[in-house]
Amino acid sequence: MSFQVFGIPVSRGVAIGRAVLVASSRVDVAHYFIGAADAEQEYARLVRGRDAVTRELQALKAELPEDAPHELDALLDVHLLLLNDEALVDAARDWIVDRHYNAEWALSAQLEVLARQFDEMEDDYLRERKADLEQVVERVLAALATEQDESPSGASAVVARDFAGEDPLLLVAADIAPADMIQFKRSVFQGFITDIGGKTSHTAIVARSMAIPAVVGTREASRLIRQDDWVIIDGDAGTVIVNPSPIVLEEYRFRQRQAELENARLARLRHTPAITMDGQRIELHANIELPGDTVAALASGATGVGLFRSEFLFMNREGDLPSEEEQFAAYKSAVEAMAGLPVTIRTVDIGADKPLDRMSVNELRHEHVLNPAMGLRAIRWSLAEPSMFRQQLRAIYRASAFGKVKLLVPMVAHLGEIRQIQETIKRVKGQLDETGQAYGEVQLGVMVEVPAAAIMLPQLLRHVDFVSIGTNDLIQYTLAIDRADEAVAHLYDPWHPAVLHLLANAIAQARAAGKEVSVCGEMAGDSAFTDLLLAMGLTCFSMHPSQIPSVKQRILRADVPRLSAALPRILESDEPAKARWRRWRRSHGCIDAGRPALPI
Ligand code: PEP
Ligand code: MG
Repeated sequence: MSFQVFGIPVSRGVAIGRAVLVASSRVDVAHYFIGAADAEQEYARLVRGRDAVTRELQALKAELPEDAPHELDALLDVHLLLLNDEALVDAARDWIVDRHYNAEWALSAQLEVLARQFDEMEDDYLRERKADLEQVVERVLAALATEQDESPSGASAVVARDFAGEDPLLLVAADIAPADMIQFKRSVFQGFITDIGGKTSHTAIVARSMAIPAVVGTREASRLIRQDDWVIIDGDAGTVIVNPSPIVLEEYRFRQRQAELENARLARLRHTPAITMDGQRIELHANIELPGDTVAALASGATGVGLFRSEFLFMNREGDLPSEEEQFAAYKSAVEAMAGLPVTIRTVDIGADKPLDRMSVNELRHEHVLNPAMGLRAIRWSLAEPSMFRQQLRAIYRASAFGKVKLLVPMVAHLGEIRQIQETIKRVKGQLDETGQAYGEVQLGVMVEVPAAAIMLPQLLRHVDFVSIGTNDLIQYTLAIDRADEAVAHLYDPWHPAVLHLLANAIAQARAAGKEVSVCGEMAGDSAFTDLLLAMGLTCFSMHPSQIPSVKQRILRADVPRLSAALPRILESDEPAKARWRRWRRSHGCIDAGRPALPI
């Protein structure tokens, strides 16, 4: 039966493929593809895991004390029955043989299928046996984990394999931690659907950076969609169509082809400098998560890296942090790849929806810190871990010997923080001098993403070389809307007058102080805001490489003095800014860039 699920569109485009459900198991489940030739061996591993648990349960049963309650014995029987039912391990074989899932993934996929059947049972007693099944599966997963330590680790370490000729796969999950999302950069998935999340949650940001269609905040997609269902993701509308009819499928395939043509057309702008109609040169920089992203940055025509989110180097690790050498190698490789173009490295922004370990936003919110976005995050964490901070700064400074490096600090809200940063830099430079390690000139910048920083910007500007406005957090903290919470996603509004005022003032104040200012939040890469930001006087935008062409197209068609003249009326109007701005643009004949409207 065909049905639709609605969510928040976070990454544009259409993806069509088969659903892969990743269960949010309490046990750390590795997800990776095996080679087709290894399928029987992998199945044998699963059988060994099952047999080990069978023996374990039989031993438990045999050792039950005489006076143990009868229910315990009966429960072990139920577990043994479930474990050896052909609907479990035997059926999981298909996932291994047909889909090349590793044993753990195949077993958890089969658990999903069976769990649904239990959920649909009328009889209360039988329905409650789902919990027993889950326990049995967790035992097998634990047995497999002890047997196979060398398998790729982590909750969802999906390793890319060449699956040419097979159906495209779309990932469906209750929630995906940013740490897992980064693994997916190298994976085969062509689209993402999650129950949780907002437009600027880090999971959404990474999906966008991969230019892969994604819909988040669907609330129950992972419950409604079944393994292997055919699914269409409409990343423009935020719609997910499950088991579409042939006619709908054909329509979306047409849209996919149109989008590919449009992307190919925009890609031709790569070497065109971003110069407005009135002759202003605009810098279009790239936001990257890993050094390897510089390839996409250069391919898209970026003239620098405006935001290297260094925290992604700190994720997907088994408890340790990256050493100075490891960080140095990563920063150096990005700097060298950009060949003289500026690389802005942001010091680690761990915390909020980017925990060090593979926790999802939900787990973090409910099980650990009540309000992580307001907690020990970003520069607060760095200052609380001084030796880690010095290590990172040393690595960044050493990389500056190989090209143009700028240092950017997230979430600054106090002048005292800047003083502490400067003292630490002084100490780090002293250490490098002592050991004779080379470093270059490094400009210091802070992110404006807490209203306090935006309000006291003139004072901050006296102590730094440049600022970068992080609109994702600035909106979150100005409007008191958790950016990762789909329940309040409708209130997360970049067009809110308070946000626009803070932005316009910050840009104007930085310019008045003669300091460089850029925007590196998601607003910079959304072509709906390009004219508005140009009107505010912005000349440096930083975004995902895939967004550069459409923003550039807007810039090429913009007449900045004309746009700027309209700005005061937009900021002061009682009418919603979005509507007012659109009306003004229409009445002044501004051409809308981006993909043409497509028939649905
Ligand atoms: C921002 O807050 O706008 C930003 C760019 O930083 P992040 O999204 O990594 O928090
Ligand atoms: Mg931020």
